[in-house]
Amino acid sequence: MKILIVGGGMGGTILANNLARRLVPELKAGKAEITMLSASDKHMYQPGLLYLAVGRMTPDELYRDQASLLESTIRFHVDPVEEFHLDDQHVKTRSGRVHAYDILVIA
Ligand SMILES: Cc1cc2nc3c(=O)[nH]c(=O)nc-3n(C[C@H](O)[C@H](O)[C@H](O)COP(=O)(O)OP(=O)(O)OC[C@H]3O[C@@H](n4cnc5c(N)ncnc54)[C@H](O)[C@@H]3O)c2cc1C
Repeated sequence: MKILIVGGGMGGTILANNLARRLVPELKAGKAEITMLSASDKHMYQPGLLYLAVGRMTPDELYRDQASLLESTIRFHVDPVEEFHLDDQHVKTRSGRVHAYDILVIA
């Protein structure tokens, strides 16, 4: 089963890691795969913008490497989706790659 998560923000990251931890046997056996596509290799902690505004955080402190936040079993690509083909269960990305899925999450 191919699970495709579009978006590497707060929602996509929590869901992807939660699924990866619940599906350890299926991922190991190759019965499931989790792929995340995002528009950025960085993850921004949005609530930190409030602290930035009052001078209690610096811009650098708001950002983490997205890949470092993900379970190692999650395939992560920085390649934003440009087309959703819901009837055919695939998306097309900016690089021209096509990703088929069984389950799609738009986050
Ligand atoms: C100042 C501030 C304070 C906040 N305080 C709180 C709080 O106290 N408590 C709370 O619960 N929430 C708070 N929030 C809200 C919270 O941060 C957001 O609700 C949350 O970050 C939204 O997560 P998300 O995953 O839906 O979207 P995002 O985190 O915005 O993620 C969207 C992701 O989609 C990716 N993306 C965009 N386009 C594409 C594309 N075409 N293809 C693939 N990927 C794409 C982006 O790169 C990004 O990774 C606050 C927000 C702000 C701004």
